[in-house]
Amino acid sequence: MTHLGRTVSILGVTGSVGQSTIQVIEELRGQGADIPVEAITAGRNLGGLAEACRRLRPKFAAVSDPALLTAAREALNGLGVEVGAGPAALEEAGARPSDWVMSAIVGAAGLAPTMAAVRRGAMVALANKECLVCAGPLFIEAANAHGATLLPVDSEHNAIFQVLTHRDRVEKLTLTASGGPFRTTSLETMAWATPAQACAHPRWSMGRKISVDSATLMNKGLELIEAAYLFGFPSEKIDVIVHPESTVHSFVHYVDGSVLAQLASPDMRIPIAYALAWPDRATVSTARLDLSQVGSLTFETPDAARFPALNLCRAALLTGSAATTALSAANEVAVDAFLESRIRFLDICRIVEEAMNSLEGSDAGLIAKTPSSFADVAAVDQAARVAAQRIAVSLAAA
Ligand code: NAD
Ligand code: MG
Repeated sequence: MTHLGRTVSILGVTGSVGQSTIQVIEELRGQGADIPVEAITAGRNLGGLAEACRRLRPKFAAVSDPALLTAAREALNGLGVEVGAGPAALEEAGARPSDWVMSAIVGAAGLAPTMAAVRRGAMVALANKECLVCAGPLFIEAANAHGATLLPVDSEHNAIFQVLTHRDRVEKLTLTASGGPFRTTSLETMAWATPAQACAHPRWSMGRKISVDSATLMNKGLELIEAAYLFGFPSEKIDVIVHPESTVHSFVHYVDGSVLAQLASPDMRIPIAYALAWPDRATVSTARLDLSQVGSLTFETPDAARFPALNLCRAALLTGSAATTALSAANEVAVDAFLESRIRFLDICRIVEEAMNSLEGSDAGLIAKTPSSFADVAAVDQAARVAAQRIAVSLAAA
């Protein structure tokens, strides 16, 4: 491997993407690559953090909950690691000197630690799409200003990144969507879907929040916004197509009629390894694509009636960046409420839509203007959470 000596940090090491990142690092270390780990973080999973410390030998490990500092010190005792807890410690993990940072915390909670890495001009492997949806233009501006390199890890964006050979000759992008567990399920049945059913994704094994987002297709809507901010294309130049085999990870259509795509088995270690080895490629034992096994590749138009999330996301993107901040925050609140069985599956999009309508009605200025600072972003995020929470409570009581 070319990049011997690339120092790395992993934000969200105990999650699905975090664990896949550990696997890739271990495999490359097994081939003789020197990949020192500077910092890792977790939410509240001390056992998972201790296990990651044993495998990665980082210098610094942080948990999100400040109340867990003493427990974290005990859990990591003897592992030769400095321990931190709370928001400042998560930011410290991003700020510490490392060449490459995996951003794999879920939700807007990942924004501040990722920004700490962006501000010091690191290579940032971006799995956390909510960072971009929440603070897109400011995030991209900061990356440009500080010379940070953004390496998309979300499989669709990684695919586009891999085949974006002529950025100014692109006619449109097409994001592929698996369709999730309810691709062919009727609205009547979806109304009674349980968290376990919503999290049983047919193709990918992922954290619970993104699994629910995949079931509502909100994930694809968030990815539409992510692609718009990341690659700088307007909403009308980005299509979504349902592709149940999850083999083609996205398409780039060029002005001469050529369409380039990246194909791979649905295995997150592939985009992770690509980002880690970039601009080289690494030899990794990821799932190989056997096209004769896949048989046929099929594509269908998403059903906007059963999956309103896509249009909600498109509308927010057209309204502006405060609207995408609000949408993502409202969705986080709604998904939490669904995972805790306080609301029903179809209420998720209802809450997001009503929260957006309520903010537009009561606080039109807030949604219409473009946030000019991260403090503005935080204010919009908070207002959307309050609105969504209020609607979730009223739906739960109904
Ligand atoms: P996950 O739930 O499995 O893991 C999330 C990680 O964040 C864990 O380490 C958890 O401890 C930590 N965390 C949770 N809440 C936190 C908080 N408030 N503060 C600090 N840390 C916190 O999630 P995942 O599936 O690994 O997804 C991570 C991110 O990557 C998400 O933004 C998701 O959309 C994106 N992503 C995931 C996949 C996938 O295949 N899992 C694919 C593409 C993009
Ligand atoms: Mg994706």
